[in-house]
Amino acid sequence: MLPDVEKLLALQEADLQIRKLQDEIAELPKRITVIEQQLAGTKAQLEKARAAAKADEANKKKYETAIQDLQGKISKYRDQSLDVKTNEQYKALLHEIQFAEQEIRINEDRILELMLNVDSREKEVKAAEAELKAETAEIEREKEEARRVTAEDQKKLSEWNSRRDGLRQGIDSELLRRYERVMKFRGSGLAEVRDHKCMGCQVMLRPQIYNEVRNGEQVVYCDSCQRVLYFDPANEPKREQPAEAVHTRRRPRPKADAAQAWFYRPDYGEAGEVLLVFTNGGESATRCVYDMHSGRQLGDVLNREGGYRQAFPEDLTDTAVRLNGHWEEEEMLEWGAEMPSSILDVLHSDLRAAQREHQKAHNQHSSAAEHSAAS
Ligand SMILES: [Zn+2]
Repeated sequence: MLPDVEKLLALQEADLQIRKLQDEIAELPKRITVIEQQLAGTKAQLEKARAAAKADEANKKKYETAIQDLQGKISKYRDQSLDVKTNEQYKALLHEIQFAEQEIRINEDRILELMLNVDSREKEVKAAEAELKAETAEIEREKEEARRVTAEDQKKLSEWNSRRDGLRQGIDSELLRRYERVMKFRGSGLAEVRDHKCMGCQVMLRPQIYNEVRNGEQVVYCDSCQRVLYFDPANEPKREQPAEAVHTRRRPRPKADAAQAWFYRPDYGEAGEVLLVFTNGGESATRCVYDMHSGRQLGDVLNREGGYRQAFPEDLTDTAVRLNGHWEEEEMLEWGAEMPSSILDVLHSDLRAAQREHQKAHNQHSSAAEHSAAS
């Protein structure tokens, strides 16, 4: 990686930390405002409950005063009734007294009604007071916490700021200008390249740009988002191993003097593809033929004098492929007229290995021939 890009990465880390801290510092007073609004709500509720209790108290006083006034009137009417001359005058006074007594009863009922409310009013006020007290304690704790976090953030912020100033000093001014412009608009000024893509804007890079970033010999900008690109080999996705390694195990070479010899023939007359097994037994040799695909025995076992190469020369043509394989005579007798599929599989896979080997040898031979022809 270019030293300038490495410095920019450190600068971006500082810039991002600074922004995070600034956001956090700005967020705390907002949090306090929210709790304070909640506290104001509780205060208003308490005021309302207190005002209601006060109004009740004032009304009670008003009704009590009214009752006293009415009682005063009644005793005045009683005094006057002692001096009345006519029956009419007496009746009129009596009427006034009755009216005043009725008014007193109405006021007494009103007072009674207020008295019934007093209990619930008191409870409302007490509950609101308790809530306000709890909330006030809570907001004090929150404010204290906010002050602590803010002080801590401010300290970190000034550390990051001075680190940032130091980093800026060492970076080429044109590069710095471009970085800061993109940082301002996009929130970051650099982007990693991963799997041929700009991780900032997710756009695939042109192969030439990709190679330039990988080589790390010059500053490269993303064509689409203008961020400074960098490459970290540790983050590159791992390529899968090519599947070639699977068949590297060498096929064992069949022994020439084996007592049992297996062959494959692709062109065995009408039978087509067959497997042949020859067995050398002292003075004579036997031959047994199996169908290549079904494993079924074709015809009878043949017995001729001599070793199998002398006894069955017509079977060992150029197309015959010698295979690996050896099974005991007893086991082969148990197969009967059809060899088990597991045996067939072993022979088939050895044939494929033999054919691959042959193909490889052929390729090497022909490329060697080309080379010699060219020179
Ligand atoms: Zn980009």
